[in-house]
Amino acid sequence: MPYEPVIGLEVHIEMQTQSKMFCACPVVDSVSAPPNTAVCPVCAGHPGTLPVINKMAVEYALRVALALECKINETSVFARKNYFYPDIPKGYQISQYEQPLAEYGRISLQTSQGEKVIRIRRVHLEEDTGKLTHVEPEAGATLLAGQEALSTQTGRPYSLVDLNRAGVPLLEIVTEPDFRSAEEVRIYAMALRALVRALGVNSGDMEKGVMRIEPNISIRPLGQEEFGTKVEIKNLNSFRALERGVAYEIKRHEAVLAAGRAVAQETVGWDETAQATYSQRSKEDAHDYRYFPEPDLPPLRVRAGWVERVKATLPELPIARARRYQRDFGLSIAESTFLAEEAAIGSYFESVMGAGVGSARSVFAWVTGELLSLVNAAGSGFDSPQVHPQDLADLLKMVADSKINQVTAKTVLVEMFEGGKKAAEIVEEKGLAQVSDGGLIARLVAEALAEFPAEVESYRAGKVTVANFLFGQVMRKAGGKANPQVVRAALEDALR
Ligand code: ADP
Ligand code: ZN
Ligand code: MG
Repeated sequence: MPYEPVIGLEVHIEMQTQSKMFCACPVVDSVSAPPNTAVCPVCAGHPGTLPVINKMAVEYALRVALALECKINETSVFARKNYFYPDIPKGYQISQYEQPLAEYGRISLQTSQGEKVIRIRRVHLEEDTGKLTHVEPEAGATLLAGQEALSTQTGRPYSLVDLNRAGVPLLEIVTEPDFRSAEEVRIYAMALRALVRALGVNSGDMEKGVMRIEPNISIRPLGQEEFGTKVEIKNLNSFRALERGVAYEIKRHEAVLAAGRAVAQETVGWDETAQATYSQRSKEDAHDYRYFPEPDLPPLRVRAGWVERVKATLPELPIARARRYQRDFGLSIAESTFLAEEAAIGSYFESVMGAGVGSARSVFAWVTGELLSLVNAAGSGFDSPQVHPQDLADLLKMVADSKINQVTAKTVLVEMFEGGKKAAEIVEEKGLAQVSDGGLIARLVAEALAEFPAEVESYRAGKVTVANFLFGQVMRKAGGKANPQVVRAALEDALR
């Protein structure tokens, strides 16, 4: 029986504000900052402390909610979600529950199957938990100071707690169960990452866990209205794991149903090594958390004027930008999405296009090919590029006008990048101008044919690929500067 997957996503996004959600502690990098250095009595959960809402965190959340076309609730309410875990020092997490900040949004995606609208159920504010590191002492393992003492004392696995992340503003974005494939899920997650980066809310450094994705997956017989039982995969922080985890669960559910059994509702984890999911726990229900309104915080009031002001500051969003690149420049979905998501590269591309030389395809190839690899190798960026867009345009114009060939242009670009000189200067100084002189090229062709009679022989005997070898020889004689079209024509003539 054919089945249809049904998937809904819960995504947690850290909001990289200056300070935490309810205290003045700074939001620090989870990898480079020493553990437990950004902690105060509020986020450490000491009794008697009081939380204060971070206004900037609300503003960041509004940006995202508005970009997702949500309805903003004028009043939203924080609640306590009670549970005990070593990474949650208060014994509860402050989270919006019954009345979230925003609801009823949408995002429109471009997939290989066409346009797909995903409805956003809710966007709410909460605080992050601390970070636990589980250590399994192994013989010969290098341990940090302090860990050493611990492991020699016990010789058993233990856990380290870092509260730097406890209380970092977190945004949870929940979709309706609108996805029907692993591909749609991946495209949504990538679009969401691009969105929060463009909005300045989040760095998008997935490997640091600043964006964590939890897909809920079920399947149903094709044509059936009612949803099947869902399984939630916890805390995925890469698009690969997301797509593979979802595909894995779909397959697993199909096998379970095919065997005449029922899918159990549960929460699973993704095992990267095994490329498989494993059961974590049977699903807890909302009532297990004993939610109740946070008594230490008043309801959050967001007035229309504030919403309007935030709306007015939203930049052009990546999805709109990608569509504009397709419309205005005829780029593909993949090309335009790349430029839209890497905004600085996109702006650079637009500036080069503005100079009016070269097709979008060739400008795209130069910017995201040669130039991007130079930039990456230098560890610099496109915000203040070594090569000004107008200078790249001038270089491309020299190629278009047959003043230099493509191969020369690549060498010239390297020099422009390293030395800051302009293309025309470099070509002039180094005598790199393209040679299109028919007489000279014909002479070089004749020389090459005389040097390689055996190759000429085998060409004439039908081994036409030898022409490429001979072409290379002529180019070498011309110091790489010959006009390739003229060389090809001359070679063809001479070999006839
Ligand atoms: P829970 O209370 O278990 O967290 P929710 O109803 O709040 O479940 O939904 C959580 C997420 O799961 C949402 O993104 C929702 O779209 C999705 N979801 C709900 N039911 C299903 C289902 N049967 N199959 C797949 N996804 C689902
Ligand atoms: Zn604090
Ligand atoms: Mg859930």
